[in-house]
Amino acid sequence: MQSYDIAEWGQPLQSRLRDTPQPGPEEVLVRLSYCGVCHSDVHIREGWFDLGGGNKLKLSDRGTQLPLTLGHEPIGVVQAVGGNVRGVELGRQVLVNPWIGCGQCRFCVAGRDNLCNQMRALGMAAPGGFATHLLVPHARYLVDAEGLDAARCAVLACSGVTAYSAVSKFGPLAADDWVAVLGCGGVGLLALAVLKAKGHARVIACDIDDAKLAAATQAGAAATVNLKTTPGPAELLRISGGGLSHMVDFVGAPATAQLALPALLKGGQMVVVGLFGGALPVPLPALAMREVSLRGSAVGNTQQIRELVQMVRDGRLQLPEVQVRPLAAAEDSLRDLEAGRIVGRVVLDTAEDA
Ligand SMILES: [Zn+2]
Ligand SMILES: [Zn+2]
Repeated sequence: MQSYDIAEWGQPLQSRLRDTPQPGPEEVLVRLSYCGVCHSDVHIREGWFDLGGGNKLKLSDRGTQLPLTLGHEPIGVVQAVGGNVRGVELGRQVLVNPWIGCGQCRFCVAGRDNLCNQMRALGMAAPGGFATHLLVPHARYLVDAEGLDAARCAVLACSGVTAYSAVSKFGPLAADDWVAVLGCGGVGLLALAVLKAKGHARVIACDIDDAKLAAATQAGAAATVNLKTTPGPAELLRISGGGLSHMVDFVGAPATAQLALPALLKGGQMVVVGLFGGALPVPLPALAMREVSLRGSAVGNTQQIRELVQMVRDGRLQLPEVQVRPLAAAEDSLRDLEAGRIVGRVVLDTAEDA
């Protein structure tokens, strides 16, 4: 098998050839066809996330060892299964939930692996999907995707489920509620698609890049705001006629998150998803008096990926187009993503053998 790996933190990915692994008793070997490239891959390659206040989350402190195969939006077909695996058909197309936990803690037992303190996420702590083959620790992380467009569906494993899980935290929306999506990269566009699938029309897309805002309009945004040319809450307040009910921040920078208090209506909610980094000083009396909620959302779980796949099958969710590139373009794609040169999502074609 071939893979593209982090050999040294912060350095370009390296191609590696090795024997294709055989699945252990509980494991499933997937012959990959595509893997999406996510902005988190840029952070993972660096080896750390900025937690704000000068604190860093270092992957090496969390037990990640190099070399590590990057990539956490994998889709492919089942090639082999371990002796204890039941109910998985060889040759079947499957999405893989990469957000895998310890399997033992209260979160994992409840199917909420994404909150596990001992995450063994594929492409972050265990070998991921920038590869021709992927070993999945258990069949419960597979989502049947037979018959669906594999390249477009790859993104459901991270950006799709991240967008869906975040927007689901809003709860039911009233038809006259205004919602803002901050950051219209791959995840933001999927959030717009999910809101559209839920039948919600009043959505304002915000970004600092007009090309991304044009893509957001195509994905169904009712209005757009360029936060570079019109910074601050004024334009959001004008369009919504006085304030938003919900916001979702796929950037996660102080500049975006600080829009919550001035732009939300009383009782409004901001869901923070992006991991750009930094910290936010929050005036506590305003938070209390205005009953504003700030909450986080971290990727999602297997059940949520299943729900998304069902929405695609029903024709409710229209998946955005993706740019398909060869697996060998993994490194260039990370650089393009880091430099903000990508509109929508890049998906690597992993079907070619080296
Ligand atoms: Zn991701
Ligand atoms: Zn766990």
